[in-house]
Amino acid sequence: TIPSADELARELLDKGARYAMASYVDIHGVVKGKFVPIAHLDRMLKGSELYTGAALDGVPQDINDDEVAAMPDPASATPCAWNPDLVWFASDLHLNGRPFQACSRSILKRQLEAAAEMGFGFNLGIETEFFLFKDTEDGGFAPVSDRDDLEKPCYDPRPLMDNLPIVADIVEAMNAQGWDVYSFDHEDANGQFETDFMYTDALNMADRLVYFRMMANEIARKHGAFASFMPKPFVDRTGSGAHFNMSLADLETGRNLFEADGDDPHGCGVSPLAYHFIAGVLKHARAICAVIAPTVNSYKRLVQRGAMSGSTWAPVYCCYGNNNRTNMLRIPSQGGRVECRAPDIGGNPYLGAALMLAAGLEGIREKLEPGAPHRENMNDYSRAQIRDMGIEMLPRTLGEAVDAFEADPLAREVFGELMFDTFVDFKRGEWEEYHNQVSEWEVRRYLKMF
Ligand code: GLU
Ligand code: MG
Ligand code: MG
Repeated sequence: TIPSADELARELLDKGARYAMASYVDIHGVVKGKFVPIAHLDRMLKGSELYTGAALDGVPQDINDDEVAAMPDPASATPCAWNPDLVWFASDLHLNGRPFQACSRSILKRQLEAAAEMGFGFNLGIETEFFLFKDTEDGGFAPVSDRDDLEKPCYDPRPLMDNLPIVADIVEAMNAQGWDVYSFDHEDANGQFETDFMYTDALNMADRLVYFRMMANEIARKHGAFASFMPKPFVDRTGSGAHFNMSLADLETGRNLFEADGDDPHGCGVSPLAYHFIAGVLKHARAICAVIAPTVNSYKRLVQRGAMSGSTWAPVYCCYGNNNRTNMLRIPSQGGRVECRAPDIGGNPYLGAALMLAAGLEGIREKLEPGAPHRENMNDYSRAQIRDMGIEMLPRTLGEAVDAFEADPLAREVFGELMFDTFVDFKRGEWEEYHNQVSEWEVRRYLKMF
């Protein structure tokens, strides 16, 4: 049961809060918001906070348009761990009293309704990989501790112990909200960490992820550091993924419908329904990439080796398999869920979850089959062999991904005309701005070549 504004205000005041933030996200999934003294919480919950969309990346409004209003979701109230004065609220955007077409959160809610009409709830667990850096005097950045220069830093407890004051503060803050962190570690790049917490319904998870990025940053800053969610900061180290662990639940009983229950046509540990879902995601994988790997830099992560000596652990092929990290979609040995390894931590989780879910639902509606799983190391095949097997490559650049997105009718349907056009324009512009640069690499290679 959702408390009334009065009850909520009293409860928040009891906890020491003084301001509420009516927050929503821009096209990148970056948190924006206005602050309201708790005495005005009632008005805020009714949509008093207005925003000029034109001031933000990818909110399609002109400077002469009416403002959009944030309609906060009382169920999302989150006391800010780094500042007890402040309570964060996720909001939907409205325009002139009606839901605004180009609101990321509403786009996900629409897809969740489509799933609900089929009797499904969508559960999502997002693994958060990110970097902790400090600014350096020469204007650059570096991992925080001086033991952050290891050759093989993966799972090394030493840099984790050095950075525990920051990471543990982040973990405590997550647990204070009841997120139930079950594991955290040092990942395979210097200064890279991961905090894993329980899955929940996709709307809640997307709210948590955008809040998480803000929170981790604020906490790191208290320690003289900053958190970076750039997908691939180092050319020769792993990037930061945000693996989507997905399952559908029976809306009435809560039963996990991806659980195999003896009926597992491909032997990977999930139900026939899950294989249809997988087939739908694979069908739309290239368009989905534009949304879950939405930056120029994302595609420096989605490589098999690149400048790295070891594995990047990031996918390059549109295929699925059992507990095998060389597929885009992996079914962990415990079964009962599907992990998509393509998303990076720099995405807008509302839009990513919406398109991923829509693709999976299409697979279910149309009873699509994903073919045989891949249990072999996909990285052992040549490009030609992959092509002969009929396996598509994930896009290799943001430009390719935006083209795939634009060509996919499902993307248009899920985003709605206004957000679809905005996304394509914005992301194509981002790609072209980058592409029009002449890099140091090019000058080095070509200046005196001929
Ligand atoms: N950091 C890897 C990525 O970019 C994932 C490593 C892992 O499997 O945890 O997706
Ligand atoms: Mg990881
Ligand atoms: Mg994972």
